[in-house]
Amino acid sequence: MVIIGGGYTGMMAAARLAWRGRSVTVLEQNELGWGASSRNGGMVLPGFKSDPGSLLRRYGDHGRQLYQATLDAMALVEETIRANQIDCQYAQTGQLYLAHKPALVRHLDDEAHILSQQFGLAARVIPRVELASEIGSSRYYGGLLVERSGGLHPAKYFAGLARLARDRGAHLYDHTPATAIERRHRGGFAVSTPRGRISAGNVLLATNGYSDSIVPSVRRRVIPIGSYIIATEPLTSELAQSAIPNRRMLIDSKNFLYYWRLSADNRMLFGGRASFAPTTIPKARDWLYAAMTRVHPQLRGVRVEHAWSGLVGFTFDRMPHIGRINGVTYALGYCGTGVAMSTYFGQLAADWIAGDALPPFWQRPFPSMPLYREKPWFLPALGWYYRTLDGLGGGGLP
Ligand SMILES: Cc1cc2nc3c(=O)[nH]c(=O)nc-3n(C[C@H](O)[C@H](O)[C@H](O)COP(=O)(O)OP(=O)(O)OC[C@H]3O[C@@H](n4cnc5c(N)ncnc54)[C@H](O)[C@@H]3O)c2cc1C
Repeated sequence: MVIIGGGYTGMMAAARLAWRGRSVTVLEQNELGWGASSRNGGMVLPGFKSDPGSLLRRYGDHGRQLYQATLDAMALVEETIRANQIDCQYAQTGQLYLAHKPALVRHLDDEAHILSQQFGLAARVIPRVELASEIGSSRYYGGLLVERSGGLHPAKYFAGLARLARDRGAHLYDHTPATAIERRHRGGFAVSTPRGRISAGNVLLATNGYSDSIVPSVRRRVIPIGSYIIATEPLTSELAQSAIPNRRMLIDSKNFLYYWRLSADNRMLFGGRASFAPTTIPKARDWLYAAMTRVHPQLRGVRVEHAWSGLVGFTFDRMPHIGRINGVTYALGYCGTGVAMSTYFGQLAADWIAGDALPPFWQRPFPSMPLYREKPWFLPALGWYYRTLDGLGGGGLP
């Protein structure tokens, strides 16, 4: 069994398949964990880009199962951390989804109702007049508080998964790109690398936002989009407390959203993107710093010590996908919310490869766009559309 891509998806799949007695080889073209799995914001959140109400309307009972899967994914992350004593600073401090326009508050009410009535989550709307108890900023019109969510140190979590896979006997190869996958007449595959060819009964593609054209029909369905994060110097406890009193994971409702939180050592981690156009780290750092201090004027003068970027894997229906193309299994497309889902998809893909059935609600068409090969020609127009929506008061909500 060969797994291409050494992030959360690949490591979790490797750990699970090794546990089920399979011989597993993971190929990672850079260092293990080099992709989004070591550079993300560390927010462990339920849900997808589409809110639960839209999922229920669009997919009916399958929508309910899809949302429930994201709660199962969170439970899996927590159980994996607990059972394997992964030291990754996980803390269930809750998430606050912030309305950037007054008209969006009504949607928050609807969403809170669905989350609590249909999924049993502790979810409630914090009106604008009470927001000061949750965020030191006057820019937002209300927030949806979901207590279930949490945060972790992404690279430490990755290191724990890699250790788990290795301890169970998976073979992990860094600096080893898969360059071709050939289907053999007598069954199985030959996977080429610069270090030689490997025969495998099954191949799992776990490359998400870093997918290349090794499986062209998957590449045509994933849109890599850059996301950027700055980390400030550690804040004094007074300043940290004044910005995010209850250490929530914060996300705002724009399509070009901001996401931010405090790290365990009280740095402010502030992420987002200005547009779909690629940019440099220094430009993104300046832009994010300006955005952070607009939201939290009390952070003016705080130094930024780190800035970085990574690629998220978007899909045309803004949902993750697991499936098979020409016998190759793929599990990807987390659309920027993949810490929990990639852990879950890694395990789900492993169980499917080991012979279990794939639940019907995951068996969904994987859309593409005409003429899309590798260059997402449609992004400038889409970026303009989203920016206009954000200005008008639309956003991450439908
Ligand atoms: C800046 C940023 C912030 C984010 N914040 C959050 C967050 O707060 N919460 C959240 O839930 N999600 C977040 N995400 C998304 C989350 O990090 C990803 O969904 C998740 O890490 C995906 O894991 P993965 O293993 O599928 O892919 P990745 O970790 O991206 O790994 C894919 C790997 O495949 C390798 N690869 C590609 N092609 C080949 C090849 N041919 N041969 C060998 N190897 C190959 C790449 O080198 C890469 O290491 C964020 C992402 C980014 C970039």
